[in-house]
Amino acid sequence: MDVYFLGTGAGMPTTKRNVTSMALRLYEERGTFWMFDCGEGTQHQVLRSPLKLSKCEFIFITHLHGDHLFGLPGLLSSRGHQGGTRPLTVFGPPGLGDYMKIVFQVSHSEVPYPLLIKEVDGGVIWSDDAFSVTALPLDHRVPCLGYRVQEKDRPGKLKFELLKEKGIPPGPVYGQLKQGLDVQLPDGEFLFAASVLGEPIPGRTVTILGDTRPCENAVRLARNANLLVHEATFMEDRVQHAHEFGHSTAKQAALAAERAGAKKLALTHFSSRYKDEEQLNELLTEAKEVFPESYLAEEFEAIEPA
Ligand SMILES: [Zn+2]
Ligand SMILES: [Zn+2]
Repeated sequence: MDVYFLGTGAGMPTTKRNVTSMALRLYEERGTFWMFDCGEGTQHQVLRSPLKLSKCEFIFITHLHGDHLFGLPGLLSSRGHQGGTRPLTVFGPPGLGDYMKIVFQVSHSEVPYPLLIKEVDGGVIWSDDAFSVTALPLDHRVPCLGYRVQEKDRPGKLKFELLKEKGIPPGPVYGQLKQGLDVQLPDGEFLFAASVLGEPIPGRTVTILGDTRPCENAVRLARNANLLVHEATFMEDRVQHAHEFGHSTAKQAALAAERAGAKKLALTHFSSRYKDEEQLNELLTEAKEVFPESYLAEEFEAIEPA
């Protein structure tokens, strides 16, 4: 599990940074990736990356500003041409359905796979037996969501020595026990999975926020997260400007991570005024002074949860 960045710039693309998009890669966990936001040009970024659109299972849109959305229709169309046949669900705030309907209607676009657009405004928006996703509204200029992806705890490691001692030979029984299922042995005895499994492996949490001013819901969504992805459009010397435009500074992002008890912070959505590495390193230093486990998101690079 890691977060692979496709676009890390704010507002408009530059030659160095594209507008917002990232992929939560869950190859080991479920053989898919989930995309968060899809600014213009995202499908070109995907082409330059190891990602395959056919493996995209969900897309989560944080808000309907163009730098997070305008790449969506093109990317969805191309997914069909690239052999994507698996169903795809796109989650996002109210208005997303109308946008997609009009764009597809006037451009006579169709996709050869089941596409579901689901408008959400908060709550547990999706879950299965391995993951759940919770969304809460943030504080931006338009309705904007943050998403918390929670992996459920997994059964602990099987104690092979103990099974050997009990005289149970390897076989399908091992697989069932590994999944946490109790089994009945050929002699009629019951073997409880809990008695031959180690401590459960705690699930990891990745929180990905859209554009936002500092707010309580950002901290709530990031509570004890293994990785928080937070915008850092400006540095603290432009805090008033950030507030006016519904954004955060690097220091404010770090304060949110600190307050939430997050383990790692990835900063992204940098204003184009921070042109070179040196300026971005200053921005990173500002965050690190508050929250040492801060990192800059770089395009075509991944950050793993702690
Ligand atoms: Zn933005
Ligand atoms: Zn925005």
